[in-house]
Amino acid sequence: MEFKNHNKIYENRRIVLLTKHEKEKVIKPVLEKETGCELIVETRFDTDKLGTFSREIKRPKSQLDTARMKIRIGMKLFNTDIGIASEGSFGSHPYVPIPWNIELVLLYDKKEKMEIYGIYEGSETNFGHLETNNFDDALKFAEKIGFPKHFLILRSDDEYSKNIIKDIDSVDKLKDSFHWCLTKSRSGNVFIETDMRAHANPTRMKNIEKATQDLILKLMNFCPECGAPGFIIKEAIKGLPCEQCGLPSAMTLKYEFSCHKCKHENEQLYPRGEFAPAQYCNHCNP
Ligand SMILES: [Zn+2]
Ligand SMILES: [Zn+2]
Repeated sequence: MEFKNHNKIYENRRIVLLTKHEKEKVIKPVLEKETGCELIVETRFDTDKLGTFSREIKRPKSQLDTARMKIRIGMKLFNTDIGIASEGSFGSHPYVPIPWNIELVLLYDKKEKMEIYGIYEGSETNFGHLETNNFDDALKFAEKIGFPKHFLILRSDDEYSKNIIKDIDSVDKLKDSFHWCLTKSRSGNVFIETDMRAHANPTRMKNIEKATQDLILKLMNFCPECGAPGFIIKEAIKGLPCEQCGLPSAMTLKYEFSCHKCKHENEQLYPRGEFAPAQYCNHCNP
């Protein structure tokens, strides 16, 4: 397949990013270099109003819908027709009890009516908490999660206490905050947790960068028919034949691509080889 020169697809366009947590540090360099756009940071809206990781404000919408809302607000404030947003979530892996981070970087081009996202999903996170009355244990926890480069949040009692201190980024602040929380505590414990805001968490920042790179990868795939960017996988079809018995397995047989603009469709057979190892076969390895 041959493409025209599609470099700098967003030359002369200003993409707005609504954030007050310095996400431009990782999004701007990648996006500007790869697409030729100018990234504008919009800070006139407090994104914490859409939900906080530390539970003072619940996120009422899904991760994707919250990202969409940030883009809408950003485009309105800056009066532009293209926006980008990042939205993360933290919890446990769906099957194994390990911390899990999903980072979404969403781009919406109103002019071209295109929505496309990049994603990072993995266990590279320091997401965690500790309830203790012992400052040495608190220090050990802090060390484990990469403090002070990674900030901490403290509360008296438990995760829902209103006595909360944020922006803890030095041992002195940690000590003062710990003792303040102890004096306020009814249970005698202090609740310590990792701060997941991007500017307070370099590990998360790195994952946002990875999601941005994934977005670029998807964006820079061009439709072979009309040349539009963002020619992405619409569906992965299972059924790769087993190497032993030839019956369809649960592994991917082909990817189906589709163009958001001209609706052209294309498929890529055998993205992971022509046969599935017998261990993935329901017939040979039940
Ligand atoms: Zn097309
Ligand atoms: Zn088989």
